[in-house]
Amino acid sequence: ADTKQTMGFQAEVKQLLQLMIHSLYSNKEIFLRELISNASDAADKLRFEAINNDALYGNDTELKIKVSFNKEAKTITISDNGIGMSRDEAIAHLGTIAKSGTKEFFGKLSGDQQADAALIGQFGVGFYSGFIVADKITVETRRAGAGAADGVRWESTGEGDFSVEQIDKPNRGTDIILHLRDGEEELLSSWKLKSIIRKYSDHISLPIVMNKEEWDAEKKETVVKDELETVNQASALWARSKSDITPEQYEEFYKHVSHDFSAPLTYTHNRVEGRSEYTQLLYIPAKAPFDLWDRNKRGGIKLYVKRVFIMDDAEQLMPTYLRFVKGVIDSADLPLNVSREILQESRDVKAIREGSTKRVLGMLEELANAEEQDKKDKYAAFWKEFGQVLKEGVGEDAANKDRLAKLLRFASTHGDTEEQNVALADYVARMKEGQDKIYYVTAESFKAAKNSPHLEIFRKKGVEVLLLTDRVDEWMLSFLTEFDGKELVSVAKGGLDLGKLEDEAEKKEHEETETSYKELVEKMKGALADKAKDVRVTFRLTDSPACLVADEHELSGNLLRMLKAAGQ
Ligand code: ADP
Ligand code: MG
Repeated sequence: ADTKQTMGFQAEVKQLLQLMIHSLYSNKEIFLRELISNASDAADKLRFEAINNDALYGNDTELKIKVSFNKEAKTITISDNGIGMSRDEAIAHLGTIAKSGTKEFFGKLSGDQQADAALIGQFGVGFYSGFIVADKITVETRRAGAGAADGVRWESTGEGDFSVEQIDKPNRGTDIILHLRDGEEELLSSWKLKSIIRKYSDHISLPIVMNKEEWDAEKKETVVKDELETVNQASALWARSKSDITPEQYEEFYKHVSHDFSAPLTYTHNRVEGRSEYTQLLYIPAKAPFDLWDRNKRGGIKLYVKRVFIMDDAEQLMPTYLRFVKGVIDSADLPLNVSREILQESRDVKAIREGSTKRVLGMLEELANAEEQDKKDKYAAFWKEFGQVLKEGVGEDAANKDRLAKLLRFASTHGDTEEQNVALADYVARMKEGQDKIYYVTAESFKAAKNSPHLEIFRKKGVEVLLLTDRVDEWMLSFLTEFDGKELVSVAKGGLDLGKLEDEAEKKEHEETETSYKELVEKMKGALADKAKDVRVTFRLTDSPACLVADEHELSGNLLRMLKAAGQ
């Protein structure tokens, strides 16, 4: 038989626990939201596994979450009859952090409590947030399908270690028992707990139940009855009509699906009817996650079929360049036993992806084109966090390329600041008389771009040049060759034709100069024979004596440097 065993937390868990207890104390009520959110996830997982194995329900088919408290013992208990955990699962899920981006997260912590609190929130606190109010947590759990003797008790004071032991547990699911710290007694109240649940967890689609309380006139005190009452609305939020949902409820639902701690930037909620029928509730986060650049990261969309949870991270539902979008898609057409393989080939899924992409782009356009300052600020914030990812779409999503091009923002010589706030349309509106091209320079850094000798002639003539310094830019530009009928041209490519920007007198003068330098140019060509393909007299420079240019059909210097760095 199994005896009680003590194990150490992963080092990161210890660190997170200490930080969290101190820096999130002023937000301590969120522990209940996190634990209810986990209970709801556990019910979703059970429903999903039961699609192919109905026996998992046993005779306990009504999924719910119960919150109760004991004034004498000073405990709060959150119980669910969801999927439960095996011993190994309890050890893995409650003793380590399996999130991608964990290392980066710990690297960013500064020791400054306020800054760290914001970071921790962004990272997601989850189960461990129970330790904000409890100095001991007992978890009693039994995996669906396991026998009554195969229950597990996990216990920890949230310091260095935890214990696990085998117990008898009559029902499937998980009880989280919080032994409150001294001073947290105010939480031992039906009224208090209900108000926290209504504030943070109303959107949970399962019933959250509590024992009823009644005033007993004889005893002159409130007594707890056996009868249960449901505290939340207990219907899937996305299935409710928009007018019945408050902004706060949308926000709390976001935190539940995204495991994010802060409010979203914006969202869109629609029921789509027609060839394909589905509901979408999609959010754009305010901040980029730590693992935005993680190649293995999956999407943020939860797929439901007729209210039944099917899977997290259904990457087929959103193109890769919109991988930061979070939310729920509930299809009325897909079969309940849909697999990732089926999703890949499904025409319904294709229709959903196209429809959802359009919605997200529409949501971004609304911010980008708005007159109101707060919306403009939101778009600027969005661009700062996710602009580089959106640029991937120019190459990835040919069908929406034109819409995406309008959403792009760049730094340019107009403002001469690093901030990327110039739309291509702004550039076009400022084009000089006779200018028929959009000019840009690419470089490894803003400073290098801004000081590029290629810009001299443009600055002299007052012609704006886009300053491109993101890694993805060169790649993107190979797909974005024109905008609004104007060709995009690098100022660093050979034989730069300034077209009508050059007047006749200038042209004549240039020809004369070229002739007079003919001899020198020939000499230099000879001297540089194996180093340079050609030597030319240039009129692009006003201050620098010479510069290197790429041949018109060659890779640019910046791209060559990038390929070299990538070991090509
Ligand atoms: P997250 O919810 O973001 O995965 P948490 O720290 O909240 O992170 O939870 C960690 C893991 O512990 C969950 O992913 C789940 O596997 C497990 N877990 C927590 N609570 C429960 C529960 N009530 N029932 C089953 N598993 C749970
Ligand atoms: Mg959680």
